[in-house]
Amino acid sequence: MTVHPLTALVTGGNRGLGLETCRQLADRGYRVFLTARRAADGEAAAAGFERSGLRIGSRPLDVDDPSSIAALAEGLTRDDIALDVLVNNAAVSLDGFDETVARETIRTNFRGPMQVTDALAPRLREGASLVMVSSGAGELTGFSAKLRTAFLDPSLTRAALIALTDDFIADVADGTFQRKGWPGSAYKVSKAALNALTRILAAELKPRRIRVNAVCPGWVRTDMGGPHASRSVAEGARSIVWAATLPADGPTGGFFRDGRPIPW
Ligand code: NAP
Repeated sequence: MTVHPLTALVTGGNRGLGLETCRQLADRGYRVFLTARRAADGEAAAAGFERSGLRIGSRPLDVDDPSSIAALAEGLTRDDIALDVLVNNAAVSLDGFDETVARETIRTNFRGPMQVTDALAPRLREGASLVMVSSGAGELTGFSAKLRTAFLDPSLTRAALIALTDDFIADVADGTFQRKGWPGSAYKVSKAALNALTRILAAELKPRRIRVNAVCPGWVRTDMGGPHASRSVAEGARSIVWAATLPADGPTGGFFRDGRPIPW
């Protein structure tokens, strides 16, 4: 019988929480594919582990670029690599708030993980664990009651969820977003959409016993979190690794920080 190495792939793995998640998973014995949108950044990050003996290799992946996503999936298929863990970590928190910021934030933080997951789903082993790195900022408290109901609707489809994010971009573009009940933050809306996608994917992938959970790492000292954040990168990544390494009978379709459920 061939024993396969437990294998993980992390998006946005060249710095911040993604890089530390790669390290912690490799420490636990995983073979890790660290992906980065610029190949050279990924190679440099992976080279930093060369002397440690950890099994971390790099592959290019720009989550905004469908051809990059397809190339990654084709490469994994060609090399006969199946994944036990997929961590959708890559994201942006852009300055300002206008139609362009709304569109780009939704593209990277919501559409990116959706497209990466769809392309890599055939490479996920039965019983794999999928982690969406989300944020407490995605909690629905700052949304109107009508939008909260729409996002939390258990029968929400992918098409309806995409339409909701398109409405948000249009409402930002024509200046009606406040009246329509949206918060004034594209990052918040992108993570609320990612959380809704987590629940949809959890239901879709249940027949293959693949668990899909959203995780908030807390406020972490990375380029995104800034130097005054309350948590170290190692502490934040532990929340992600907890979800990535849940046992086969662990929860699915949940939202967690430090291994404890938090409100949508
Ligand atoms: P970070 O230091 O800014 O790193 C972001 C990572 O995402 C970088 O590797 C970046 O790559 C990558 N990325 C951005 N756009 C990409 C794209 N189109 N394709 C591929 N990679 C892309 O952020 P972080 O703090 O580590 O955040 C990691 C995750 O934790 C994010 O999902 C974030 O929303 C979440 N989070 C962070 C905090 C916090 O306080 N830090 C709190 C809550 C949630 P480049 O180097 O190429 O830009």
